[in-house]
Amino acid sequence: MRRVLVAAALLLAASFAAGCAAQEEKKAKDLVIELPEPEEPEKNDAQTGGEEESSRDAEEAEAQNQEKKGILISIDPGHQSPSVDMSDQEPNAPGSDVMKTKATGGTSGRYSGLAEYELNLDISLQLRDKLQEKGYDVIMTREDNDTPISNAERARMANEAGADIAIRIHANGSESSDANGALVLIGSAENPYVGSLYDQSFSLGQSVLDSYCESTGMQNLGVQTNDTMTGINWSEIPVIILEMGFMTNQQDDLNMADPDYQVKMVDGIADGINAYCESSLNN
Ligand SMILES: [Zn+2]
Repeated sequence: MRRVLVAAALLLAASFAAGCAAQEEKKAKDLVIELPEPEEPEKNDAQTGGEEESSRDAEEAEAQNQEKKGILISIDPGHQSPSVDMSDQEPNAPGSDVMKTKATGGTSGRYSGLAEYELNLDISLQLRDKLQEKGYDVIMTREDNDTPISNAERARMANEAGADIAIRIHANGSESSDANGALVLIGSAENPYVGSLYDQSFSLGQSVLDSYCESTGMQNLGVQTNDTMTGINWSEIPVIILEMGFMTNQQDDLNMADPDYQVKMVDGIADGINAYCESSLNN
């Protein structure tokens, strides 16, 4: 009985640890096996029944632990409706004198007519649901198109919530309608604010981008560095911007507006996040 309670407590503790569940759960199991037997238990029928009961409870606790990974992911759907005035300025990084507009309007689909901020939110909401199904906890920086939240505020929201990683969802635009494909933006290793997060952000970005392109067939333009992004510079956790494709390219634009294609997009992103978490967040 006591052994089982200890096991349940360990499993509970494991679910709060910032590691991937499978690993933590394994540790918990190993520890349970090493615990001494309870001293001279009264082995009567009632006790045996009680142990069976408790063992069922422990199995249930374990099942719940498997469902919840104890990892919090911030999803930031880029931009917002143009009806929200975000024209004020804010520092481009903590303590920086460089000022940038709080948030911009984004691009739009040259062929679909879809606004980027709408596409970003559509995909982000589907991604939230998919990640929750996989056992992740999710925080959204916005869940509608009318929330006035600046790029620095989006990063701070993720920091303050204690998120493990931040995924920023965007789509690209270009003067050239030929430009197509997906890419990831991260802060460089020389970035004075997030340079120490470079390795983790690169690994996260590569995992998400490769999985996304494999799932969708989108051209893979690679992980690229950019140190001008306010929402990256304010981050205290590994952070990426996924530019899902070009809304100024006919094929990319019409693909991304297609609900069936969106399922592949979301599956690809979620699988990439999951692969990163399982390989990198288990310590
Ligand atoms: Zn954008």
